[in-house]
Amino acid sequence: MEHHSESGATPWNIVKLLKWTTSYFKSHGIDSPRATAEILLAHILKLTRIDLYLRYDQPLCSDELKRFKALIKRRVKREPVAYIVGVKEFWSMDFIVTRNVLIPRPETECLVEAAISVLHRDSKQNAKDKSRRVLELGTGSGAIILALASQSTEHLFFASDRSLQAVALAKENAGRHGLDKAVDFFCGDWLAPLSDDRHRFDMIISNPPYIRTRAIGRLQPEIYKFEPIVALDGDQDGLLCLRLIIDSAYRYLNPGGSLILEIGHDQKTEVKKTIDRCGNYEKVVFKKDYSGWDRIVQMQKKS
Ligand code: GLN
Repeated sequence: MEHHSESGATPWNIVKLLKWTTSYFKSHGIDSPRATAEILLAHILKLTRIDLYLRYDQPLCSDELKRFKALIKRRVKREPVAYIVGVKEFWSMDFIVTRNVLIPRPETECLVEAAISVLHRDSKQNAKDKSRRVLELGTGSGAIILALASQSTEHLFFASDRSLQAVALAKENAGRHGLDKAVDFFCGDWLAPLSDDRHRFDMIISNPPYIRTRAIGRLQPEIYKFEPIVALDGDQDGLLCLRLIIDSAYRYLNPGGSLILEIGHDQKTEVKKTIDRCGNYEKVVFKKDYSGWDRIVQMQKKS
């Protein structure tokens, strides 16, 4: 891409640049080429995507072109757009994301929905004491717990991650949304930092790593080349962390408390077996995501 378009006369303006970039992305097999071009250009120009259409004939200076070109290169090397622009929208909220955390996925909004509906049900049943203690394990960017905290001020929220960088980022995201007082973040591996006689919750939620180790290299390069493998790798059968959480979470739940997990699209049968074998839960319900996969499982600790 030269600083002047093929005609040599007119400089690159927004509309021309979007057209060129879209076909360049298309020829490199990049998903949603037009939208990607718009997001990256809007990012460089500090505009919204709508602004691009309002200023379609605005020319770009050479510095803007240079920086835009650098982003195009990163995307063609398969770096996810969210890491390039540094934010991802989830639950209609913007979250800062870095390569230390998984990019929040749209299907994970189903986990938030399930948690909200359980909290709502429990609050109705306990009109006297509506406040619930909610813990998220493996919070990453904090998207799930912050989405929940944004919906309900009466509950007490806690979230942990084994990665110190993730905890720091989640706290930063909490601050951006004015939720730093609403969520207590701490560092540690699943339930290890807690003691079951002192820390009890009414709800534990998690989207743990659940991909089979062997399958990771077969995912899109955007995922296996750039996202933190520790947030994806569920060991040989993908179920290591799910099993660990199911087998220990009940000890940290109050009687009747809920455990809600995101699972892989083909893990329902194995997860059900794990729950039954554990024997400490009842009212096990699987819920589908928007694509029709069994994606969420919720259960209650036996009273
Ligand atoms: N849903 C994610 C993916 O398909 C995986 C998330 C996870 O392992 N918890 O990339």
